[in-house]
Amino acid sequence: MKVLLRLLPYIRAHAWAFWGGLAGLASARFFEAMIPLYVKMGIDNIAEAQAQPGADAITMAHDSLTYPAIAIVVCVICQMLITMVSRILVRRIGMYASFDLRNRIYSHLQKQGPEFFMNYSIGDLMARAINDISLVRQVIAGASRMTAVLIFTAVVGLTFMVSLSWKLTLALIFPLPLITIVAYLFSKRIYAQSHTVQEGFSTLSTFVQENLNGIRTVQAMAQEQQEVDRFSHVNQEFADDNLTLFTTSSLLGALMPVLAAIATLIIIGYGSFLVSAGDITLGTFAAFFSYLALLMWPVREAGALVTQWQRGASGTARLFEILDHEPEIQESADEAFPKLTGRVSLQGLSYRYGNKDNFALNDINLDVYPGETVAILGRVGSGKSTLLRLLVRLLDPTHGNIMLDDHPIQNFPLAYLRDHVCLVLQDPFLFADSLGDNIAYDNPERDIDQIWHSADAAALRETIEDFPEGLDTVLGERGVTLSGGQKQRTALARGLIRMTPLLILDDCFSAVDTETEEHILAGLKRIRTNQTTMLVSHRVSTARHADRIIVLEDGQIIESGTHQELIKLSGFYAGLEQTQGSNARLTKELAT
Ligand code: ADP
Ligand code: MG
Repeated sequence: MKVLLRLLPYIRAHAWAFWGGLAGLASARFFEAMIPLYVKMGIDNIAEAQAQPGADAITMAHDSLTYPAIAIVVCVICQMLITMVSRILVRRIGMYASFDLRNRIYSHLQKQGPEFFMNYSIGDLMARAINDISLVRQVIAGASRMTAVLIFTAVVGLTFMVSLSWKLTLALIFPLPLITIVAYLFSKRIYAQSHTVQEGFSTLSTFVQENLNGIRTVQAMAQEQQEVDRFSHVNQEFADDNLTLFTTSSLLGALMPVLAAIATLIIIGYGSFLVSAGDITLGTFAAFFSYLALLMWPVREAGALVTQWQRGASGTARLFEILDHEPEIQESADEAFPKLTGRVSLQGLSYRYGNKDNFALNDINLDVYPGETVAILGRVGSGKSTLLRLLVRLLDPTHGNIMLDDHPIQNFPLAYLRDHVCLVLQDPFLFADSLGDNIAYDNPERDIDQIWHSADAAALRETIEDFPEGLDTVLGERGVTLSGGQKQRTALARGLIRMTPLLILDDCFSAVDTETEEHILAGLKRIRTNQTTMLVSHRVSTARHADRIIVLEDGQIIESGTHQELIKLSGFYAGLEQTQGSNARLTKELAT
């Protein structure tokens, strides 16, 4: 429950609405508690009228009831209007607090590195951002308001009751500790069960999200039925957990009216005794029944209230778990750097993934000059992608340094760094937007010439012109309407358009045919004469055009030089050239 205090800053921002709402709720309770007083007045007036001998009883009763009746109507109207306004105020706070929280979570997520996303699945994060936030909103707008109503009703109601008869009030308070104990015992279980339900919801949405993302694989492998079975299992667990939670909270809800019944018995028994003893009037006796009805309504709601508080607390805990997760890449405060030239220096660079024993990169030393094109080759798992991720600070090195123009890479603000270093991935993410907007993603204001220019360099012009709607062609979710190679080339165009001093391509030609790849590379060298390009490739035919070729093996550089130099070495690269060369010749022969 303590975690709920962390919501205070979000409420403090709306202090006037908070105090206004609170004052409204309190005064509404006051008007409500006035009503039984007028009931009492009416009944006592009638009793008095009837006691007078010889009078016209009906006329007198009429006259004596007019004032209390009007007063009751006025009280009801005031109470309703004030309640309505204060309810809007409090709901507003709930809405804005969840609005602020949602924004904060969203911008927090933008700063997280790959490790974070390995720990939290997208489905889980979505569940928290939607479901848990709505629990928080309910706690602020619903549970806290109801609790205030409950407290005000109790305070105002009890004050009025004491003024009428302290004896009867005392007798009524008697079951109160019982209510508290019962509520406390239940609240602990409800918190735990609610946590389970929310985790279950996360699991469920992770499942759906992953399934839909991989739907084409699922269908291609004819796994639909298995997926449905697995889903219904997860779904069943979620339903069971929900049922447990409902059962507990319903039990609590059912116990509350029992306690109310005890209070009724007390009034009937002890109250009628007091009336006959002449201690209280008949009107007071009736007023107590009205007060009981007034008090019992919140008490009956108390069960639901405990549930709401506990669910809100566990939702809040789940949100702050995300917000407390510091991004592993820390933003640098330094500013005012000159424009980078694209000079890169790797000094004793090593990296080890948190969950591994051996180093993915081990003592890499390398200097790259502006305008140079460096190709990186190596087997799967040799550390190529790791090296590239370090260059854009998706990861920070375990040992060693990366210098850009003599500045350690950590000194740059992240936004500045990513303005100067652009990474294009093998499996690019395209947005469900037009082709043109995807290419000009970094700046929607770019003019059409720039878009075509980079589309040309990425050998994408023909593809675009083949679409009837050209650059305005809208891509499906994640770009499903494009082939793998077209997607890669679109992503390349998106990277090229920024003309960053350092461009990094991680195997982003894997689905592009050899000829197009060579064509693209020739184009790249032409338009990026003064800028540095580092690219991972599997093909010697591509790498041979690079100014320098580097071969990685087990996280270390084992060969480095130009195409000719590496061929002379007769090492890994020369071997690769032989196999790929004979394959290419074979393909050509088969084709002719
Ligand atoms: P490449 O791109 O050359 O195929 P990577 O840089 O992706 O190689 O991987 C280098 C090594 O680091 C491999 O042994 C791989 O298993 C490991 N590795 C890569 N990514 C992760 C990760 N996210 N967590 C743990 N180990 C990883
Ligand atoms: Mg890789």
